[in-house]
Amino acid sequence: MKTIYNVSFQIQVGIIKKLLLIQTQKRGSIEVAFITRCEVNTELRHQTIRPVAETDIVKTDSIQSVLHVVHDCKRGFCKVIEGNCEERSEQQTTVLQNQTYLEHSSRDVFFYNKFRLSKLPDKL
Ligand SMILES: [Zn+2]
Repeated sequence: MKTIYNVSFQIQVGIIKKLLLIQTQKRGSIEVAFITRCEVNTELRHQTIRPVAETDIVKTDSIQSVLHVVHDCKRGFCKVIEGNCEERSEQQTTVLQNQTYLEHSSRDVFFYNKFRLSKLPDKL
């Protein structure tokens, strides 16, 4: 999940990798997130977001909002493949036979989705 968060009083963009609930006797439970910090490049027409080799560990109340992004398939070297693929709709998965589909690579390169300006609540 891509997010905007505060660390050391600075606004950062990152990818939540892990959430952890820490139980302590003195302070009760503390929720923390392990976030891979990302660099936002605004030189191109679109804002590109890519991770840097740095992880922040922050309390989850430092997370301000979810950031909507789309995969940068050109820089991610994603491939168009023919074959069987799965289609998910809500909680149901269907296998489609002999389809041509885009298979995203595992490279974490994204565009900020500025067209996602809906007022609908996000599913987290
Ligand atoms: Zn892709």
